[in-house]
Amino acid sequence: MHHTESSNTQNAELPWQQHMRRAIRSAEQLESYLGLDAGTFGPSGNTTELFPLFVPLPFADRIEAGNLTDPLLLQVLPVEAESSSPDSYQTDPVSDLKHRIAPGVIHKYRGRALLITTGTCAVHCRYCFRREYPYGEEPRSMDTWKSAMEAIRDDDSLSEVILSGGDPLTLSDSRLAVLIELIEAIPHVDRLRIHTRLPIMIPSRVTAEFCKLIKDSRLSSVIVIHMNHVREWDADVEAAISCIKATGAPVLNQAVLLRGINDTANAQVELCESLINRGVLPYYLNQLDRVRGAAHFEVPIAEGKQIMTELRTRLPGYAVPRYVQDLGEDSKTLIV
Ligand SMILES: *Cc1c(COP(=O)(O)O)cnc(C)c1O
Ligand code: SF4
Repeated sequence: MHHTESSNTQNAELPWQQHMRRAIRSAEQLESYLGLDAGTFGPSGNTTELFPLFVPLPFADRIEAGNLTDPLLLQVLPVEAESSSPDSYQTDPVSDLKHRIAPGVIHKYRGRALLITTGTCAVHCRYCFRREYPYGEEPRSMDTWKSAMEAIRDDDSLSEVILSGGDPLTLSDSRLAVLIELIEAIPHVDRLRIHTRLPIMIPSRVTAEFCKLIKDSRLSSVIVIHMNHVREWDADVEAAISCIKATGAPVLNQAVLLRGINDTANAQVELCESLINRGVLPYYLNQLDRVRGAAHFEVPIAEGKQIMTELRTRLPGYAVPRYVQDLGEDSKTLIV
């Protein structure tokens, strides 16, 4: 039984790299971990060939066993519907590849360059807009970062570098340290932004060493986490966020509006309040990007707008995220 105190504690104490290795990689394994009968989840077709299931144990521990509509489960469980997206759902819905200025560098928005640091994540979110991104073509080792750094150095309008992926926190602290040093050496870069789900998926990834890295850097850091539902919190996640906040870096959250997961005003109010109460500012509520395989997650914009109207009446202004869509234009488009 994994839901006992003792095994949860055990999971919390494992080094994060072990959690990457031990993560659940099939629906059968997930059924068994949750104590469910084999076949409970039903067929997932061939969807996992393109994008395998990947769920780390600390997150699996927060899934309510036996609840087949659990909002955490639905984010990670491959289902047959993924095979039947309409043609309007594409493999690169936000035109990342059109804005690739060097291997591993996407420059789409003014002043900000986004680095694809790795293709690895600590979870496979079934709605991910980069689920078919050609990560294999991006730099893998540190010396291949050279051309990326040259591209950033050559454009002095770039004042912010965003570490993205994949998830940059799947890189070890020593590799992150090297990467951050390379960025620090570019004089016109002032800010480092890190987009990561690791503090939620494997909270022990937020090591003292990582926090020291961002605290000691000459760059101002902003950390953007990705939480979709209030039930993603537990004591370990809270501790990880506290550790980051103690560095002085602002912590922001982005969520994706997802059918059956967080598509009610109540779910959004609970999420936003839980974030604010722990010092995390709701930043974006993203309209789903139309990526192949994710059509069943879409909430129509009209419905999203209604939810936003209710959020504005029920929450303090600072707790209301911006409802945005990535249309591949020169900034994310605000939906009002
Ligand atoms: C979202 C995004 C950014 C950052 O946009 P902000 O509005 O500053 O959060 C930068 N580059 C790319 C390619 C993005 O998709
Ligand atoms: S963590 Fe982010 S990049 Fe990775 S699968 Fe989830 S949404 Fe995609």
